[in-house]
Amino acid sequence: MKITRVETFAVPPRWLFCRIETDDGLVGWGEPVLEGRADTVRTAVHELAGQFLMGADPLRIEDHWQVMSKGSFYRGGPVLSSAVAGLDQALWDLAGKAYGAPVHQLLGGPVRERARAYCWVGGDEPAAVGEQVAAQREAGFTAVKMNGSGRMDRLPNVAELRQVAARAEAAREALGPEGDFAVDFHGRFSAAGARRAIEVLEPYGPMFVEEPVLPEYTALLREVTAGTTVPIATGERLFSRTEVLPALQAGVAVLQPDLSHAGGISEARRIASLAETFDVAIAPHCPLGPLALAASLQLAFCTPNFLIQEQSIGIHYNTGAELLDYVADPEVFRFHEGHLARPTEPGLGVRIDEKAVREADGRAESWHNPVWRHPDGSFAEW
Ligand SMILES: [Mg+2]
Repeated sequence: MKITRVETFAVPPRWLFCRIETDDGLVGWGEPVLEGRADTVRTAVHELAGQFLMGADPLRIEDHWQVMSKGSFYRGGPVLSSAVAGLDQALWDLAGKAYGAPVHQLLGGPVRERARAYCWVGGDEPAAVGEQVAAQREAGFTAVKMNGSGRMDRLPNVAELRQVAARAEAAREALGPEGDFAVDFHGRFSAAGARRAIEVLEPYGPMFVEEPVLPEYTALLREVTAGTTVPIATGERLFSRTEVLPALQAGVAVLQPDLSHAGGISEARRIASLAETFDVAIAPHCPLGPLALAASLQLAFCTPNFLIQEQSIGIHYNTGAELLDYVADPEVFRFHEGHLARPTEPGLGVRIDEKAVREADGRAESWHNPVWRHPDGSFAEW
């Protein structure tokens, strides 16, 4: 079997899919995307495919991963790791279809029968948090995640800290003691500011606080984890085993590799295994499309230290299209009591509606995150 064609599709709201076809007529799908840099990653996908995959045996996944990741003198980083990630997913999808088994079966078989997921509540307006959390609870979810703040000074003042606490209080009130909420700081605070903000969250028992500091300040994470009993999470902006290691050594409790950014199923699997040696759980990042979610689920079902899955259905970023728009069998992503069932179809376990994808290609408006500024005009973290 040989790879004969690699295509990419830029689709709304902000996603990129890739499709690998073989001379046997088998097709594998993946999602190589970096939010806000879809076009750049698209170029990288075609460079890698042309250089390393065309004409090759698709079943040599590990060798392809090694060569795509290491075969150029300049390597790594979000763009290249995301390109490799989507191609790696598509190769696993193909392999599953070739062997007639879901990917998690090829990786050792299932360790659970359902995977817990959380959904997003915007969290931008504290007043709306209680209502939004209650609505998700009504829909069966047992966990939600929200932003800890809007635009924020690196060192929050008392009024800002009260806003952070007000969101958590509203969420806890709506959830009761059984439910969980997580809070994403998006690296908006300095390390010192994060310590203060986490302190005000402690009484409300968040499941975890995410990205208390930016990934470039991972060296400061230890002082954050050491100063609180709240579990600390990070990892959506770390792209390999070597990049997550310092965060693990700094005492994070939850690691959040993104299956479409961190080298795909192959590398995320190894990241999960490395995390297990630190007694750390994984909660894969996934505000993305159906293939990224399907790949994440394949990992969830064969990974003992899986905690919970992010997913983008109803997320505030999705405008113009939804995850289910590109899926021929939406039942795969149907939630029961806030969980997804184990997929049983071969490969990634999801059937892509190819016609919908081809029609949507090119209709994605170029999505970029907003550039925020402080009242004095200076740059603010989004
Ligand atoms: Mg995040």
